[in-house]
Amino acid sequence: MVHFVGAGPGAPDLITVRGQKYLENADIVIYAGSLVNKELLDIAPPDCEIYNSAEMTLEEVMDVIINNSDKDIVRLHTGDPSVYGAIREQEDILEKNDIDYDVCPGVSSMFGAAAALKAEYTLPGVSQSVIITRMAGRTPVPEKESIELLAEHGASMVIFLSAGMLDKLSEKLILGGYGPDSPAAIVYKATWEDEKKIITTVSGLASAAKENGINKTALVLVGGFLGDEYERSKLYDPGFTHGCREASK
Ligand code: SAH
Repeated sequence: MVHFVGAGPGAPDLITVRGQKYLENADIVIYAGSLVNKELLDIAPPDCEIYNSAEMTLEEVMDVIINNSDKDIVRLHTGDPSVYGAIREQEDILEKNDIDYDVCPGVSSMFGAAAALKAEYTLPGVSQSVIITRMAGRTPVPEKESIELLAEHGASMVIFLSAGMLDKLSEKLILGGYGPDSPAAIVYKATWEDEKKIITTVSGLASAAKENGINKTALVLVGGFLGDEYERSKLYDPGFTHGCREASK
């Protein structure tokens, strides 16, 4: 059995209880070494075989799994496996080889970053949607999903995998309608001990990153949710009735 497990954003106690149990029982762990906190490997039994997938190809990873399919294998991905996790290609090979697997969710870095900033992505009166995206790099992004087109929505944006291209990112955000002074943030290594969080503006992204020596392992957050204005929620409004509570007046 193979368990794809989300390791969480960095802090080792942000793995789920279920993910931790899978690790405790693992015969083999294949972890994404570039971003998964190595302290998590201490949870695995001492005789567990450990592989770092950062140094392996898809074929090499799958060979380890296929040759050991009678064992308990944890494939440990950073954050949540469904976000830029490249799990689909692994799942399809497991299907072809009739190997059982499941997926255990994890805390994505986008939530680690929001927590670091004590921010709420979905502020009433500001935005009720979150766009998760990235700049095109070696992996292309469909044209209809270019930053400038997505920026037109004015929704809260979380931009992954783009910390090395912030000049271009700002340009595209501004082309899409964000004012140069719109609030933006960079969160580096959210929830790790060396986490850095920087509040800046859309036009200030590149210089803020440079000043702080950040060019990877960071998320860029953009949108009015980082500002000061919003409306209070209906859910907790005394004048609003819903399934669990009658309006008080
Ligand atoms: N599945 C992961 C994302 C993997 S893609 C998740 O759910 O978080 C790798 C990118 O995620 C990095 O380039 C960076 O943009 C972001 N990232 C991962 N961990 C991070 C962290 N702790 N803090 C900030 N960004 C992080």
